Amino acid sequence: MRFINLARQNEIGANSYFLELNGRKIILDAGLHPKKFGEEALPNYRRVADGEMDAVFITHAHQDHIGSLPVLTRRQPQAKVFMTPATARLSEIMLHNSVNVMSRQRDELDLGSYPLFTHREADQSRELWHEVGIGQRWSIDGERLGSNGTETSFELFYAGHILGSTGVLFRNGEQRIFYTGDVNFLDQTLQRRAEFPTEPLDVLIIETTRGDRALRANYSRAGEEERFLQCILDAFARGGSVLIPVFALGKTQEILALLHRFRSTAALEAPIYIGGLSTKITIVYDQLAANPQLSLKGLQLLETLSPFVLNGRDLATTQIQRNRLYVLSSGMMTEHTLSNQMASRFVDRPEQSIFFVGYADPDSPAGKLKTAEDGELLQLEQGGSRLPVLCTRAEFDFSGHAPRELLMAYIVKTKPRTVILVHGDPPSLDWFKEAIATALPATQVIVPEPDREYEI
Ligand SMILES: [Zn+2]
Ligand SMILES: [Zn+2]
Repeated sequence: MRFINLARQNEIGANSYFLELNGRKIILDAGLHPKKFGEEALPNYRRVADGEMDAVFITHAHQDHIGSLPVLTRRQPQAKVFMTPATARLSEIMLHNSVNVMSRQRDELDLGSYPLFTHREADQSRELWHEVGIGQRWSIDGERLGSNGTETSFELFYAGHILGSTGVLFRNGEQRIFYTGDVNFLDQTLQRRAEFPTEPLDVLIIETTRGDRALRANYSRAGEEERFLQCILDAFARGGSVLIPVFALGKTQEILALLHRFRSTAALEAPIYIGGLSTKITIVYDQLAANPQLSLKGLQLLETLSPFVLNGRDLATTQIQRNRLYVLSSGMMTEHTLSNQMASRFVDRPEQSIFFVGYADPDSPAGKLKTAEDGELLQLEQGGSRLPVLCTRAEFDFSGHAPRELLMAYIVKTKPRTVILVHGDPPSLDWFKEAIATALPATQVIVPEPDREYEI
């Protein structure tokens, strides 16, 4: 087996990996870096020859896994692209939204090469996608197989991260190679936990997002939800409102489902605001509410919670009233997003609160606000004023990623001969490297250098 990390750095950025298995050439995920621009935001697709790939696998519709797919399919129009039906629905929305964002950035940031692909190319890419269900065996050419074949095959497994998310198992004779994508082994409010293969693996390519922090002692999801509710009630008692920066895809729907639970026990009655892209994605969640990956069967989030929808224009003029919940994207409070704009109206107000419910890159505005000292001057956007941090801040562990302890348990259970560590910042990668060396000394651990070819 050959393996090349096509990402430009070992980090959670633009995920994409090349795999050659029994002469078949495969690309795993086609991400776009959330903080970089132009060629630097793309995986290094020049590392592989144009027109050579047999197949592309998309594990889920987050930007860091799908954002450059039309650029890849432009270079590899012969490749079949496999994903679940839910991922296909969500990816269409994400890619077209991305064209709109890049078109704006073209003028704002004077980026001549933007957008990196057009709406038309997103549609053309869509024609190459093949929708594949969980638990079915397929050939790399996209033929449905029985369960006993010995030819090179793949099967998608449910990953518990967001709607439609999967890991991919390749079987090649006796060989077993598994790529986790982003995974959660714990139930979330809406998303059920992963169901991954338990058979022994030869090669495991695994995400390491949370390798840099231990799961809090006596953590429970239920306890965290209770603390979240109490903090919201306290915030309202201080006479303010709450801003919750969230990813539009996944975390928005999780938080809405949680607020639904609080409402149905009459613990919390407050108007909720969401943003434009979140609404489009929530419509898909509602349409797919019967999907077995989701609990709260059939719950219609938009109809049940009737959130108000904000756009960028409203935001500047919206009166911020008391007792409001602003569940706005982006999760990292990236510049020019609703959560960034709203944060600049919250951050220097002692009665207001900003609650973090997911991962933020340490250099992103949300990452900086998380770690800022009280009263520190913080600039949330380029050219914006430096504001003293006076609002209440709190962080809640509603992560869509498995804690490192459960990733290690999975590694120990499947005893891979080789583990390839991806989708983590250097401290996370280091932790896993040591933990695996201790638990499974015979296992080879690879932190794949970008561009370097590994023969495994
Ligand atoms: Zn993800
Ligand atoms: Zn990811």
